[in-house]
Amino acid sequence: MPMRQAPLPANEADRLAALHNFQILDTPPDDAFDRITRVASRILKTPIAVVSLVDKERQWFKSRLGLDTEETPREVAFCAHAICEQDVMVVPDATEDRRFAENPLVTQDPKIRFYAGAPLQDDAGHNLGVLCVLDRTPRQIDDEQRAMLRDLASIVMDAMHLRRLAAIDPLTSLPNRRHFMELCEQEHRRAIRYHHQLSVALIDIDCFKQINDQYGHDAGDAVLKAMSHLSGQALREHDTVCRYGGEEFALLMPHATLDQAEIITDRLRGRVSADTVNIQGGQINFTISVGVTPFRVGAETIGDALKRADKALYDAKARGRDRVVAIEP
Ligand code: GH3
Ligand code: MG
Ligand code: MG
Repeated sequence: MPMRQAPLPANEADRLAALHNFQILDTPPDDAFDRITRVASRILKTPIAVVSLVDKERQWFKSRLGLDTEETPREVAFCAHAICEQDVMVVPDATEDRRFAENPLVTQDPKIRFYAGAPLQDDAGHNLGVLCVLDRTPRQIDDEQRAMLRDLASIVMDAMHLRRLAAIDPLTSLPNRRHFMELCEQEHRRAIRYHHQLSVALIDIDCFKQINDQYGHDAGDAVLKAMSHLSGQALREHDTVCRYGGEEFALLMPHATLDQAEIITDRLRGRVSADTVNIQGGQINFTISVGVTPFRVGAETIGDALKRADKALYDAKARGRDRVVAIEP
């Protein structure tokens, strides 16, 4: 008997956009979420409890108690079915359920028999994932346990909102400085382990005060958003850009030598200067100055590298703006 594929939620594209907007996928474990799975497994008396986020082709676990894998393909995910429901989905015995009897998570390790999951629903009604508990023996749950699972799912959503508030700049939707530093630490550890290069850049919008003064604060905000948008277009997938401060952005480029980092940032600079930003009553242009430097992996902190990038940025301003200045360590 073939496995039954879960249907796609009707609002799938919007749902995925809403999930990605939380920028939580592939982030390190977090106590705030681990506490919730701990409580869920105790209340429901199951050996396994997870916070599963259902991405385009996978489910990824923000918290997993009693489970070894970080993610599974979406086609085997119980949670892919649960996000199509408006309330708690319960599978008392997976071997008796035509959707799951042939599922490899049932027929092989971890040999799931029982599943109960409450959807993680955002304010717009998108089910981004599921808080679920699993067991290796068939089970039932009562109304009170269902209600508690629902409440715990709401608490997961609260934690996701708090996390986003603390990590993401609301105007540009980019990581803020604090979160960027965390991402840099993570990338630094990876670069040490796998011996790859890292480069960093500081980017500052030229004469931004004048844009605000001449066209108004809203026009300034539109320029900041355009900058975020253009970075997304001009940078590589694994580059990380953040809103570092007012009209300053920082950039981390894994696997980039200084020469490559110079090419990447100059491409962004070119894109920016060729672009026009729509503002109320017209269009404006803007330019950026960039200071770029290699990050001496294992031999300095990200703060040290950023200080050097700031010196290079100062040079770029002094030499007339709308340019990239690269500096060796
Ligand atoms: P330079 O070319 O030397 O970088 O000059 P500048 O005018 O860009 O630099 P300056 O530091 O003098 O001005 C930065 C301005 O950015 C001042 C501040 O009011 C403005 N700013 C900071 N945050 C925001 C924001 O979120 N929105 C808007 N519209 N303006 C902001
Ligand atoms: Mg500045
Ligand atoms: Mg500036």
